[in-house]
Amino acid sequence: MTMYVVGHKVPDSDSICGAIAIAYLKNQIGESATPARLGEPSPETQFILDKFGFEAPELKMSYAGEQVYIVDHTEKTQAPDDIDQATVVGVVDHHKLGDLTTSTPLECWIRPVGCSNTIVKMMYDFYNVEIPKDIAGIMMCAILSDTVIFKSPTCTTADIKCVEALAEIAGIEDYKGLGMEMFKVKSAVEGTPVRDLVMRDFKDFNMNGNLVGIGQLEVIDLAVFDDIKDDLAADIAKLKEEGGRHSVLLLLTDIMKEGSEMLIVSDDEGIITKAYEAAPEGGKLWLDGVLSRKKQVVPPLQDAFA
Ligand code: MG
Ligand code: MG
Ligand code: MG
Repeated sequence: MTMYVVGHKVPDSDSICGAIAIAYLKNQIGESATPARLGEPSPETQFILDKFGFEAPELKMSYAGEQVYIVDHTEKTQAPDDIDQATVVGVVDHHKLGDLTTSTPLECWIRPVGCSNTIVKMMYDFYNVEIPKDIAGIMMCAILSDTVIFKSPTCTTADIKCVEALAEIAGIEDYKGLGMEMFKVKSAVEGTPVRDLVMRDFKDFNMNGNLVGIGQLEVIDLAVFDDIKDDLAADIAKLKEEGGRHSVLLLLTDIMKEGSEMLIVSDDEGIITKAYEAAPEGGKLWLDGVLSRKKQVVPPLQDAFA
């Protein structure tokens, strides 16, 4: 029986590249594994796959009765809908521990580093398996994406060392240049439907019984949003109603200025004020130095809900 290796819903580069890299490793050590995904690759992920000659993993939404290896999340809201009917055989993640539990023993690779793929590299080292050039390339790009080319406060020396090692294997000298190319692809939002932008990197969280959706768009210049900001704000209001959510936040992150403008729609704006110690104005809040959803946005909000 093959195990499926799958990242979170609304997959990002870490989820998709991680699934491919883990599945390859598992097959090398004699465990049959197949990479899968829970949604369409983003333009950034497609750029990475094309660059290193990979097809996107199989789109598979249902896992009842299957063995599943989970990548880049442990939140049930982000996992396959029928994960409770699957056997979770392993987890690789770098987020706060979520609410996913298992009924059988499992393999856990969880570290507070900037990217799941940094942990995947540790797995290759542990099993002493050589990383092929093309897999090194996609792993490296996933780390550059998750760490915002090392600018994110989630970035650790382990991530930097890992990128250096992978760049060497992949034969890429100017990896920071490649990272910038990736973020340029990410910044091309013109002509994309507003809902697609809102959902591009969107995650739901269960915060003390309240469903909170938080999206993020990382670009090299926030000016790309000037003409569509009102539409984005209107769309997150719709999304909140559709999903019965308590709040929906959309982070417009400027990776050069190193801060985020947060668009907010909430049943209780006071909780946002409490979390970030600043009051939104007209549903907007500038958060200086904020680049990371997992480290700078989710924890204070979770605390405010507690
Ligand atoms: Mg992710
Ligand atoms: Mg990640
Ligand atoms: Mg991210």
